[in-house]
Amino acid sequence: MLDSVRVRLTLWHAGAVACVLLILVFATLFLLRRSSIKRIDNSLEDVANAFLATVRAELHDPDSSGRFKDSVASAIQEHTYRDISFSVFSVDGTLVLSSPAHPAFLESEMSRFYELRQRALANPPAHHPFRTLSASGHLYRGYSRLFDAEGKDYILVVLQSLHSENEFVEALTQTYALLIPLAVLLAGLGGYFLARRSLSPVVAMSSQAGRIGAENLHDRLLVRNSKDELGHLARSFNQLLDRLDESFQHQRRFVADASHELRTPVAILSGEAEVALSKNDRSPEEYRESLEILHKEAVRLKQIVENLFTLTRADIGQLPLTKTSFYLDELAADCVHNFRALAQAKQISLKCEASSEMPIVSDEGLLRRMFTNLLDNAIKYTPAGGAISVCSGRSDSFYAVSFADTGPGIPPELQPRIFERFFRADESRTNADSATGGAGLGLAICRWIAEAHHGRIELTRSDSNGSTFTVFLPAPEPPNS
Ligand code: ADP
Repeated sequence: MLDSVRVRLTLWHAGAVACVLLILVFATLFLLRRSSIKRIDNSLEDVANAFLATVRAELHDPDSSGRFKDSVASAIQEHTYRDISFSVFSVDGTLVLSSPAHPAFLESEMSRFYELRQRALANPPAHHPFRTLSASGHLYRGYSRLFDAEGKDYILVVLQSLHSENEFVEALTQTYALLIPLAVLLAGLGGYFLARRSLSPVVAMSSQAGRIGAENLHDRLLVRNSKDELGHLARSFNQLLDRLDESFQHQRRFVADASHELRTPVAILSGEAEVALSKNDRSPEEYRESLEILHKEAVRLKQIVENLFTLTRADIGQLPLTKTSFYLDELAADCVHNFRALAQAKQISLKCEASSEMPIVSDEGLLRRMFTNLLDNAIKYTPAGGAISVCSGRSDSFYAVSFADTGPGIPPELQPRIFERFFRADESRTNADSATGGAGLGLAICRWIAEAHHGRIELTRSDSNGSTFTVFLPAPEPPNS
């Protein structure tokens, strides 16, 4: 039951209301009691003053006996109150006289009054003369006062029953005891209703979300109020679905494109093998020709599978960089050197220039693969008699290595897409000539390699005179800077 947010909110709400009410009740009772005690103390003091004034007046009244005990008796008679009693003690603790309504316990409680009296004697102005006493289930407020008469010290004790105050507090407590559980119950019901109302959009959202799966990933949650917290949650969830949807579509496209790319070489392989096996009387030259085609397609197939494998591993972060220290200009020169024979075969002039030494700490294998892809493209798309130049140098905090060719260039409207996976600017040509045509993955891999090294690759120029691809990689700080 406590697993439900609704129930938890209700309990919290009811608990908070109960705490607040209890604090209020205790504070009210405490303040009430304090103010009533203060009021009683003041009135006890006034009554004691009036009583003693009467005693003194009686002592000096020529018509009275002038005896102390008679004066006290007259004062007791004159000051008759329903809840108040007077007792006069001599300093040795003997009761001189007390009201008829003198509470029965007073005798048994004398020790406490002696204590009061002792304090009154020891330190008359400073002692606290008020005391609350309980006897036979009743509470009394007592006031003791030291006074002198006929040259002797006496103690006056005035007692007021707290019965009526207690009755009032008890009635109040009983009322609270009935009202507080009722208020807590109402608060709980109200809290439950509010929690139910405010959580109902969440319940609706969760059942909507539960219905969304891979097949209807384009469905979105209803945003009732885009400004409140739940609207914000629904929007965030919808944005998450957008990203998931995009990633699903991306994956689907990737798988479709990959299968499409793999289909052509596989079809050629199986077709060529079928043809070779269909005739029994083939010459060794014919077999060789078939095997050469099979080999070329197998190489192309291997290339595509390797590229796909690289990209998928890069996507899931399983292609860590193995960094070593080397010279980028030397790596570029070495790659160019490897392509010299291929360029010569196509009568393409190939040159490499470096403006300075370019020490770097990077993944040499991956950078070599990027340069090889770019040189491969340059040779692939440059017609016979053309020229390719590779220039490297430093520009600010980056090394720049550019690959310029005199190929046909890439149409301006296609240039923004050439780094996309499986994108080919000229499909008819690459498909027709499957030996040179790639799967449109080379530049996507180049972009990933550049970005994995915190650099970038750009098509810095492409027109009818040729194209230039430039790779920018972060360069270390020069030693003398
Ligand atoms: P591919 O394996 O098909 O060459 P890439 O990703 O390397 O795939 O290149 C994507 C497309 O960009 C190519 O199909 C080609 O149309 C175009 N392209 C790449 N390099 C050049 C270049 N140097 N000159 C002209 N077009 C190029």
